[in-house]
Amino acid sequence: MPLFKQFRVFVLVLILLGVSVEALLTRNHLQDWSSTLNVAIFPINGDGSAESRSFINSLKEADFAPIEQYFGEQAAQYGLAQTRPIRIYLGSEIQKHPPEKPAKAGFFSSIYWSLAMRYWVRRNTPSIHVRPDIRIFALYFDPAKYKRLPDSTGLAKGQIGMAYLFADRGLNGSNLLVTTHEMLHTLGATDKYGLQTNQPIFPVGYAEPYKSPRYPQEFAEIMAGRVPMSETEANIPESVQKTMIGFVTAREIRWIK
Ligand SMILES: [Zn+2]
Repeated sequence: MPLFKQFRVFVLVLILLGVSVEALLTRNHLQDWSSTLNVAIFPINGDGSAESRSFINSLKEADFAPIEQYFGEQAAQYGLAQTRPIRIYLGSEIQKHPPEKPAKAGFFSSIYWSLAMRYWVRRNTPSIHVRPDIRIFALYFDPAKYKRLPDSTGLAKGQIGMAYLFADRGLNGSNLLVTTHEMLHTLGATDKYGLQTNQPIFPVGYAEPYKSPRYPQEFAEIMAGRVPMSETEANIPESVQKTMIGFVTAREIRWIK
């Protein structure tokens, strides 16, 4: 291997090591749940449209309150001592767009993107009156022009989430679902659906795996994202109230030890 190439690899390894140690330390703090975690949401006009602009202008912190309530209710189910696990703050709008996720994520392109994303966050996060533990960048799109949005992402390294959402109050339920799912990723929760089929994986992706009869289920496991209706069908729930944080997810975010 030529010397400059060796040097490049060495630098990359150093950066990754630093990132991993930092992530581990933060994760420990986030997962002890002794204090309320501050979640800051920063809106971005995803498609540059007038519709998204007026939607962002109408956004209020209270629009995200159902997520706070949801975390509180779910935590109570697991007997967590912390009665207010998260508090959401609405930050100011960001004009610059985050680096785009590669369409086909290979090993190196994923690492590169996650580092680029962290660098972008460091440079572009507006100041806010609290120290955010989790940062969600909410990109809004006009549903009249965009029927499908890119996949949202939550990074457990750096506690950064990118949520692709619709600039439409009527779709608030689905927006809050996506935001909550990505928020949980930043806390270490993993997906619980089949990547080929989109079907919830049994039993980890079921809110009530031991329900009898098993189908139809009434709720979705939040990290599986769909309510299983049969072995091969599942419906997208209309709101977070139709989902639960399942046992395995609760263990991943350390609500149970
Ligand atoms: Zn996911």
